[in-house]
Amino acid sequence: MSLKVYINGEFFDKENAKISVFDHGFLYGDGVFEGIRSYSGKIFRHREHIDRLYDSAAAIALTIPMTKEDLMAAVEETLKINGLSDAYIRLVVSRGMGDLGLDPNKCEKPSIIIITDAISLYPQELYENGLDIVTASTIRVSPAALSPRIKSLNYLNNILAKIEGDRAGCKEALMLNHKGEVAECTGDNVFIIRREEIFTPSIEAGVLEGITRNAVIELARNAGYTVHEMPLTRFDVYIADECFLTGTAAEIIPVVTIDSRKIGTGRPGPFTKELIAKFHTITGK
Ligand code: PMP
Repeated sequence: MSLKVYINGEFFDKENAKISVFDHGFLYGDGVFEGIRSYSGKIFRHREHIDRLYDSAAAIALTIPMTKEDLMAAVEETLKINGLSDAYIRLVVSRGMGDLGLDPNKCEKPSIIIITDAISLYPQELYENGLDIVTASTIRVSPAALSPRIKSLNYLNNILAKIEGDRAGCKEALMLNHKGEVAECTGDNVFIIRREEIFTPSIEAGVLEGITRNAVIELARNAGYTVHEMPLTRFDVYIADECFLTGTAAEIIPVVTIDSRKIGTGRPGPFTKELIAKFHTITGK
C-alpha cells in the first residue's frame, strides 16, 4: 500500500501528493511546520507541538483555517490511515497559492499538509559512542531580525551551518548567536553538564524552544537536578564534563568532541546516559 499524504482535508498517494509551484511556501519559504513523533501509536506531546505551530503561524500573521482540535484529529487520522504506530510526522502549513509577488494577501487559502514516515534516527552506534560536532562560522539568525522561535519553512540559516558541519565530517554543527554565545545545533538543542549541574542556553539566546528540550528540563528537574537556562559560550562547552543534543528525531544524543577537542572523558557520560534512560521511560520506548 502506498503511503497516504494529507493535503487540505484529502488523502493522496505519495506519488500524487503535490502542491502548486505558486504556493508561497515553495516560492518564499512562507510557512511554518512541525516535526512530531509517535511512539506505539501515541503522539508525543501532541498539544505542545500544535501550540508551537499556531504560535509560529501567529508570529508570521498566518491564520490556520482549522481549530487545534481538528488539526490534531487530522494528524491522528493520517497516522491511522497509514497503519503507523512508531512514526515521524511532518506537519506543514504554508501561506498557500498566490502570484509571483511577495504579497501574502494574494494567497487565498493556506495549504495544510501532513506527511508520515518511518523514523530516521542517528545510527545506534552514535547513541553508544557519541557524536563529533564542530562550531559553524555561520551564526544563528538574530532574533532581532527573525525569531528562531518561529519554526518556519526557511531553514537556510541552519542549512548553511549544516553544510559546514558536513564538510568537517560531522553530522551536527554548533551555531553561535549574534553575540557569540552558544545558541543551538542545526536541528537540535544543546545541553552541557558541569559539576553535576545541567546547563542549556535560554530561549533569549535566539533558539527554537524545543519540545524535547522542555521535556528533558522537566524530567531532569523532577529527578532533582539543577537545570540552568542561561547564556553559555564556547568556553563552557570546552570545559564541560558532558554534552548532549535534544530533538524530536534525535531524542537525546551524546556529544563527545567539539572542534576536535574531547568533552570530559571523550565518552558519553553517566548523566547523559541516565537522562536517556529516563527519557525512554516517558516515551515508553
Ligand atoms: N532546534 C532546531 C533549529 C530545530 O529545527 C529543532 C527540531 N528539529 C530543534 C531545535 C529541536 O526541537 P524539538 O525538540 O521540538 O524537535
